[in-house]
Amino acid sequence: MDGPGLVRRGAAAVLAAALCGWLSTLAPSAGREEPVAVQVVRELPKPKPKPKPKPKPKPKPEPPPVPDVDCARAKCVALTFDDGPVPGTAELLDVLDARGVRATFFVVGENAAEHPELVRREHLAGHEVGNHSYTHADLGAASKRRVVSELRRTQEAVRAATGVTPVLLRPPYGSMSGTLTREARRMGLSQVLWSVDPLDWSERDSGSVERRVVEGVRPGAVVLMHDIHGSTVDAVPDIIDRLRDDGYVFVTVSQLFGGRLAPGEEYVESKSGQSQGLP
Ligand SMILES: [Zn+2]
Repeated sequence: MDGPGLVRRGAAAVLAAALCGWLSTLAPSAGREEPVAVQVVRELPKPKPKPKPKPKPKPKPEPPPVPDVDCARAKCVALTFDDGPVPGTAELLDVLDARGVRATFFVVGENAAEHPELVRREHLAGHEVGNHSYTHADLGAASKRRVVSELRRTQEAVRAATGVTPVLLRPPYGSMSGTLTREARRMGLSQVLWSVDPLDWSERDSGSVERRVVEGVRPGAVVLMHDIHGSTVDAVPDIIDRLRDDGYVFVTVSQLFGGRLAPGEEYVESKSGQSQGLP
């Protein structure tokens, strides 16, 4: 075999080997994955996750509706309690609750700030909450600046506890002045004094407190008491029972005056029951 023949055979062998290699890429072989027909499926939109039901907000506690009492005809009386709240006020609230009686609390602002839960309880039980200054100050003798501070801080303490801004002011000691009247009017506060004073702060005897209240009450009376004295709290159940037996209806101060109190004005008692010719 000559040289060119050898070259030709060699070239043919290389070609065959190359062809074999090419063919082997076409043949299925172990370990190589079969081509898989891919079916294109349009993805369905995922159902939106249902929004979790929001927990319903708890209904805000509200005081019971104001009973429909016409104090121009009924024998109404307003029991008022000053100087609290103190822990003993809770016992008085139990007594009033048990008898279904509404009263008015003239709170000292610093006590209200210390016991907001009691002020809130007073409000939610349907009692009226009024302003009695922040530090039990003699507002009639105080400067304008002091008057404003005493009244405003108490308004804020009651509002923080109840969400309601007082419209009634009882000046401590019944001490008033032109300055106080102007500032009370500016803050929307009517000034509420009283017509029956059992002197419960001086004589801590529940029997005499009860007697003085029951003997002193006339239709339309505003009774001054203090929930800071246990002797007064002890007198309240019998006071309520005896006055109720005598036909009295217990109302808040605003109810007693038919909701017609003007800011800055002074109120001592109302003319309740007069249209019936009651005494
Ligand atoms: Zn007082």
